[in-house]
Amino acid sequence: MPATTGVEAKARTMALALRDAGHEAYLVGGCVRDFLLGRAPGDYDIATSARPEEIAAVFGRGETVGAHFGVMLVDGVEVATFRSDYDYRDGRRPGEVRFETDPREDALRRDFTVNALFLDSETGEILDFVGGREDLERGLIRAVGDPRARFAEDHLRMLRAVRFAARLGFELDAATREAIVELAPRIGVISAERVRDEIERILTEGGARRGFELLDETGLLGEVLPEAAALKGVAQPPEFHPEGDVWTHVMMMLGAMREPTASLALGVLLHDIGKPPTFRVTDRIRFDGHAELGARMARAILERLRFPGAEVDQVESLVLHHMRFRDTPNMRPSTLKRFLRMPRFEEHLELHRLDCVASHGRLGNYEFVRARLAEIPEEELKPPRLVTGDDLIAMGRRPGPDFRTILDEVETAQLEGAIATREEALLFVETRFGAAP
Ligand code: ATP
Ligand code: MG
Repeated sequence: MPATTGVEAKARTMALALRDAGHEAYLVGGCVRDFLLGRAPGDYDIATSARPEEIAAVFGRGETVGAHFGVMLVDGVEVATFRSDYDYRDGRRPGEVRFETDPREDALRRDFTVNALFLDSETGEILDFVGGREDLERGLIRAVGDPRARFAEDHLRMLRAVRFAARLGFELDAATREAIVELAPRIGVISAERVRDEIERILTEGGARRGFELLDETGLLGEVLPEAAALKGVAQPPEFHPEGDVWTHVMMMLGAMREPTASLALGVLLHDIGKPPTFRVTDRIRFDGHAELGARMARAILERLRFPGAEVDQVESLVLHHMRFRDTPNMRPSTLKRFLRMPRFEEHLELHRLDCVASHGRLGNYEFVRARLAEIPEEELKPPRLVTGDDLIAMGRRPGPDFRTILDEVETAQLEGAIATREEALLFVETRFGAAP
């Protein structure tokens, strides 16, 4: 049993407060599932017979969580009246909810049996109306009720099923899986933002490889990320990739990730996305320009899924630069330093490590870069500027596009160790670019 956290204690106290006021109240959903599995819950939910105004009378107003029909957020705990959902028309959300007095009704509207358990925090008793405990023991994600109907009501549940199966290492129950296969083409109705959140969570919450294999097997991948589905069956040169095709390579990398950030995981997923369209057989299989094309594809994919701009920039950079580690032993010092100081370089390095361990297994360039990173002090990677545009103006030069070139060359000379002081830099500008006109 995991240690009692502050929020958990809070949630239990809140359930008791509702009971003291004469209502039924239980911890419910993911927190009960995780508690029974001995995992640390992400958040806590309380289900209660109390109506929203009665909840407010016990806790004060709280924050009403907008779209969820009077669900109240009190100190980080979501408190919701027992309810049933009706009138799903658009495959996204109910048109109507009805408040209920019976927790069974509330269980029946939940997505999966393992998410529909209620915990009586006073007695420790579990209320299970849907066979959730048995599924928890057998490791099954099973829709509550008729899976076809439940996924038809709310298509997002299909991605949630994959996410929970991947994260918990569970199987999809056969009928649940069949229903997803049948309804997968409808996932496009769900907003890009909600699909994005699920993809990100599948990539980062554990079991990413399994998650993407399930997305593939159910046909969801072809709907939400057809470019990734296209990696399947794309052969690679065996001398560099003894593991097999591009898809296998990417799956192995997903499987080898260690608590990745979202951008790293997306970088892993997309680093070879440019391979299918650049595949060519000349002397051997080649993918000329796949990093450059892949970077553009990654940007287009992530913008389509409405990832934040900073995330898109970083993933694009990870994809664009992933082949450059090969060249690091031969880079001039200035080129190497500029490479090593890219934003969140540790993600570039980790992507490269994963790329190697999931293919030829040689870590020479990885070790080379790590050694350089350890020995080059930060101030040598990003030394203070020796001259500025104002200095160039003071020298009598007219501001223009060549300022960038001059300042870059000054920095290159500095990174090469050829100049180190302002005087040397000014002299460098005069000898290299001539006296000002
Ligand atoms: P996590 O650990 O990811 O937070 P969770 O099970 O707590 O998992 P939430 O999204 O926090 O999932 O939702 C809380 C509970 O609300 C779920 O356990 C489930 O009972 C119910 N629920 C959430 N989304 C849906 C949905 N789309 N359809 C039906 N029930 C849902
Ligand atoms: Mg939750």
